[in-house]
Amino acid sequence: MRRPFVAGNWKMNTTRAAGVALAKAVADDVRANKPPVDVAVCPPFPYLIPVGEAIAGSGVWLGAQNAYHAAPGAFTGETALTMLQDCGCQWVILGHSERRQFFGETDASVNQKIQAALAAKLGVIFCVGELLAERQSNQTEKILETQMAGGLAGLSPESLAKLVIAYEPVWAIGTGVTATPDQAEEAHAFLRQWLAGRFDSGLAETVRIQYGGSVKPDNAKELLSQPNVNGALVGGASLKADQFLPIIHAAAEIAAAG
Ligand code: PEP
Repeated sequence: MRRPFVAGNWKMNTTRAAGVALAKAVADDVRANKPPVDVAVCPPFPYLIPVGEAIAGSGVWLGAQNAYHAAPGAFTGETALTMLQDCGCQWVILGHSERRQFFGETDASVNQKIQAALAAKLGVIFCVGELLAERQSNQTEKILETQMAGGLAGLSPESLAKLVIAYEPVWAIGTGVTATPDQAEEAHAFLRQWLAGRFDSGLAETVRIQYGGSVKPDNAKELLSQPNVNGALVGGASLKADQFLPIIHAAAEIAAAG
């Protein structure tokens, strides 16, 4: 049984006060209900420390949305993995489509970051996903294969223990258009099969694959019920406790029914 993992990617949103209030609401619920689900919040860099303080002891993990692979030094504007650890992060999201689209990240640069993050003993949420045009021209599997092979190049089988894959079809991110449960399951099963071929099938079975792309309270249950969907990476709906908590509860219900 793969423990579901629901992570909130706040992107470049919230203020310090709003972020702390949101984190406290998530922490209070997790502390009270102890869902059989891993839960993480990933605020913007400047709010990592106050959000970390707000969730301390609750069981909610702290994640960052990006990092640079190099050791601290002359890299203006970048954030080192050691700094994330210093701020209390256990997780880092790498390869998000917005990083690829707006900031020029490539499979090779994402691979450098993944290798460095795993070496630093941080958990990695590695995002992959196709554009709409790629899906429409039946290239989804080819794109996923390229992103997986590039992003995970050189990784040892042991490093899978700290790796979570997030399948995020780009056409579903922030658009309100969600992949159907069948589309999600098909892509997730493909990713797991790919992992089995690259590593081994036993290990591939242990890797959690989150779905991301307009996950909301009203579609979470159906998506999370798919056998290869092991949680969600949630953007917009993670910014409001009354939307994020029902997604965690849906994951908990499915896990409990397990
Ligand atoms: C995301 O940014 O990872 C995401 C899935 O966003 P949204 O839930 O808003 O589509």
